[in-house]
Amino acid sequence: MAECRTCGATIEVPEGWSVGPAVRRHYWEVHPERMQKTRADKKAEEALPAPKKGGRKRAAPAVVAASKA
Ligand SMILES: [Zn+2]
Repeated sequence: MAECRTCGATIEVPEGWSVGPAVRRHYWEVHPERMQKTRADKKAEEALPAPKKGGRKRAAPAVVAASKA
């Protein structure tokens, strides 16, 4: 037996199953959005290694140059 961390429900672990797959099955049945979101977040994190703040700094000099000219 296991406990769902999301809804607190008791998850039955069938004979021959380990807790992991049983919990995953519960999530796909009861919290499918959460499973899909987790995957999407992981992919997004892989695609975007680190958010940079350089965008603002790049824009600033152009504004200064324009005001001078
Ligand atoms: Zn649950």
